[in-house]
Amino acid sequence: MREIKVSTKGKFDIINLTELVEREVRDVKEGVVLVFLPHATSALILNEDEGGLREDILNKLRELVPEKGDYLHNRIDDNAHAHILSSLLKQFVLLPVKDGRLVRGTWQEILLLEFDGPRERRVLIEILKSS
Ligand code: ZN
Repeated sequence: MREIKVSTKGKFDIINLTELVEREVRDVKEGVVLVFLPHATSALILNEDEGGLREDILNKLRELVPEKGDYLHNRIDDNAHAHILSSLLKQFVLLPVKDGRLVRGTWQEILLLEFDGPRERRVLIEILKSS
């Protein structure tokens, strides 16, 4: 298993991990790659990396689960919104790999969503080979 560290900026952020993951699968002829975040206040999605859409996604998520609210968890830690957003999404993506490339749609980028930054986040990458 490989581990990569990425630094997020600001409380909310989106980091494109596609190139980092592509680099890890260069020598894989055929298999599946698991990208996993061992964190409870961030998430992974597969979607288009476009400036306006980045803002749209973060704005809509913030609207769905406001940062300030009557959250019980905030009595001990000021990040309930981030836990809730993380639990609504997921912390992994699985993608097929063929001839050293990720098999994905034209607009599918691997995006890390930060809800409680800035932080250093661990990204674990495991390659599952079919033979
Ligand atoms: Zn917390």
